[in-house]
Amino acid sequence: MSRIAYVNGRYRELRNASVNVQDRGYQFADGVYEVCEVRGGRLVDYPRHMARLQRSLRELRISEPMPLPALAIVMHEVVWRNRVTYGLVYLQVTRGVARRDHAFPPHPVKPSVVVTARALNYEKNQQTAANGIKVVTVPENRWPRVDIKSVSLLPNVLAKQEAREKGAYEAWYVGSDGFVTEGASSNAWIVTTDGRVVTRSVDHGILAGITRAVLMEVMDALQIRLEERPFTPAEAYEAAEAFVTSASQIVMPVVAIDGRTVGNGQPGGIARRLREEFHRFSAFS
Ligand code: PMP
Repeated sequence: MSRIAYVNGRYRELRNASVNVQDRGYQFADGVYEVCEVRGGRLVDYPRHMARLQRSLRELRISEPMPLPALAIVMHEVVWRNRVTYGLVYLQVTRGVARRDHAFPPHPVKPSVVVTARALNYEKNQQTAANGIKVVTVPENRWPRVDIKSVSLLPNVLAKQEAREKGAYEAWYVGSDGFVTEGASSNAWIVTTDGRVVTRSVDHGILAGITRAVLMEVMDALQIRLEERPFTPAEAYEAAEAFVTSASQIVMPVVAIDGRTVGNGQPGGIARRLREEFHRFSAFS
């Protein structure tokens, strides 16, 4: 079965799906995106992802490409046409196609919309979570507006590549103040030796992760103590547990940071529990 992508009003075979070379997403990374987990063929926490999309668009003054109910239909359709039961759906909206000039197009252009979906291997992901992942720290070198989920991801690409080349799976950015901001594609968490879960509060230094927000509700319900504050790599090395969150990984335990073992080198009990309980608290659309 060939994979299908939605591109500006059409469902196309993925291998033939393309955008105009003058698309501002292509030329300037002038666009935003969202990634939703798909489970049982349904979209996880979709309304929250759409709310964040609207905010990203507003911040960059890109107009909404279509009414949100229509977008929901497209996203479900792409999931269905690709027969994805467990995986991801990706949505990208750019400012549109215009003659290359840094400033916004002088006349309004239609934003470009692309939606793709792909299956993930559930067993493989569960195995990765059972083993835990390794993280390396890298200097924070992104622009200050990482609260906007923009497709300008070059620093994230380089950080992730550096992690891979060092045998790790994720990179954690460390700001000039010495505190961890977040991962290249995830939010960063630790658990203190007395069982408090710590993550940085939402400011312009991190993306307000949807998984992060839902997980806080899970922790509230399970009466797990939360501390929203920054932490340093040194504190993380000595933590009882560490983990990352994102729509594609949900809660992914971290077992080593910069080559130092976290806890006993196995995924921690709180991270495992949060991973197991997460979907009881998420909304399915
Ligand atoms: N921070 C960054 C930089 C990310 O790319 C992601 C993944 N989109 C996250 C955090 C986690 O966000 P979410 O839980 O909404 O996937």
